[in-house]
Amino acid sequence: VTRSRVVIVGAGFGGISAARALRGADADVLVVDRHNYHLFQPLLYQVASGLLDPSEIAHPVRTLLRHQRNCDVHMNEVRAIDLERRQVQTDAGALTYDHLIVAAGAATNHFGHEDIAAHTLGLKGLNDALTLRGDVLERFERAAECTEDSERRRLLTFVIAGAGPTGVEYAGALSELFSHLLPKDFPRLDFRPVRVIVIEGRTRVLDAFHPRLAAKAQTVLRRRGVELVFGRTVAHADKRGVTLDDGTAIEAATVIWTAGVRASALGEQLTAQVARLGRVAVRPTLQLPGHDEVQVIGDMAELDDRGTTLPMLAPVAIQQGTHAARNVIAQLGGGQATRFRYRDKGTMATVGRNHAVVQLGPIRMDGFIGWLMWLFVHLAYIITFRSKAVVLLNWAWNYIFYDRPVRLITEVSPDTIVPTPSEETTR
Ligand SMILES: Cc1cc2nc3c(=O)[nH]c(=O)nc-3n(C[C@H](O)[C@H](O)[C@H](O)COP(=O)(O)OP(=O)(O)OC[C@H]3O[C@@H](n4cnc5c(N)ncnc54)[C@H](O)[C@@H]3O)c2cc1C
Repeated sequence: VTRSRVVIVGAGFGGISAARALRGADADVLVVDRHNYHLFQPLLYQVASGLLDPSEIAHPVRTLLRHQRNCDVHMNEVRAIDLERRQVQTDAGALTYDHLIVAAGAATNHFGHEDIAAHTLGLKGLNDALTLRGDVLERFERAAECTEDSERRRLLTFVIAGAGPTGVEYAGALSELFSHLLPKDFPRLDFRPVRVIVIEGRTRVLDAFHPRLAAKAQTVLRRRGVELVFGRTVAHADKRGVTLDDGTAIEAATVIWTAGVRASALGEQLTAQVARLGRVAVRPTLQLPGHDEVQVIGDMAELDDRGTTLPMLAPVAIQQGTHAARNVIAQLGGGQATRFRYRDKGTMATVGRNHAVVQLGPIRMDGFIGWLMWLFVHLAYIITFRSKAVVLLNWAWNYIFYDRPVRLITEVSPDTIVPTPSEETTR
């Protein structure tokens, strides 16, 4: 009798948690990812602002799963999924499955604007973070040599589109970098023209958080010199900067796009009609309607739990990964998949040094206590002990000496491929 094969697409939070929970299952498990590493995305902004090194937030998938004897890893791009033949098509050929767990996550969404895709930087993958880090530092190198005032101002203007957690966290990190660290590296540069401007279509930052926490975050950001523009969106981007939807032009050499994500395009292989943000509507068990052998989890899955659509968050993906594995184990033993229930782990975001907002059901915290909690939770979730130790050391170093050690400009290409309008949803 041949053993069943479980293919897991994606080695992110959902895929790794599913693979680990299948340890000891009576099946061969194959994890396929385009990268050879698992990425801890919540700390990407710290790589993009020179605090952490890539190896502290990215870990080889093979290392993470090497003690699991029933598990193998393939580094390949998945191009298509054939539900009828039960095959996953990769660059290296077809992989047949008995059970499939799709956890390919999400990508930056430019809402079909090619100009925005071409002239802004995203913060979704490791290459994005390294490109961003290099570009930000390079602007200061250019500004230090620049003799023309208006060009120097443009080089030193940083626009962040989107005031969700990623935009807010990066704005906080940049303000710290610009006010405490770079002035020491560039003692002869006038830092007064440096601007960090956050553009948000809604009327406040951190829309998913309680208004009181968002108001606190706004006060802290403004106190740290970040300019907040509400009720406006970026309508156009080019080499000079951006134009807002009311026609205001902002000259900026660096524009960071954190205003949208969209579930992996692989979702379109699984259903004729993807849901909002390209997610795939799944049954309460995480199974794809009409295909009990296929489960979709994490950012790709659209699922209502007790009246709310589950957000694109790491704890959702992790819990769904474990649940999907349990479903597979039940099915292997002749049983049925069971309903998934999310245990809310809350949400949190830092607003730079000493301040974070934390929302855990009815409990809301902010300020220094929130920041300590943010540090503790993120440290706990980092996947290897070595990284926990190195990250903690870096944080302590930064806290005491106001130093972000990884201020290197290296050549990398961003993860975001300029999409054709048909690949993205329009707003
Ligand atoms: C900058 C940033 C900050 C964030 N901060 C937080 C936070 O503070 N707290 C929180 O809870 N959540 C946060 N999130 C969201 C969180 O990271 C996601 O919800 C979570 O990663 C989703 O897990 P997943 O398994 O669905 O996808 P992912 O973790 O994104 O994993 C998807 C995997 O699939 C692979 N893949 C994709 N397409 C293919 C393909 N075609 N072929 C092969 N492999 C493929 C990718 O390489 C990746 O490894 C943040 C996200 C970002 C981008």
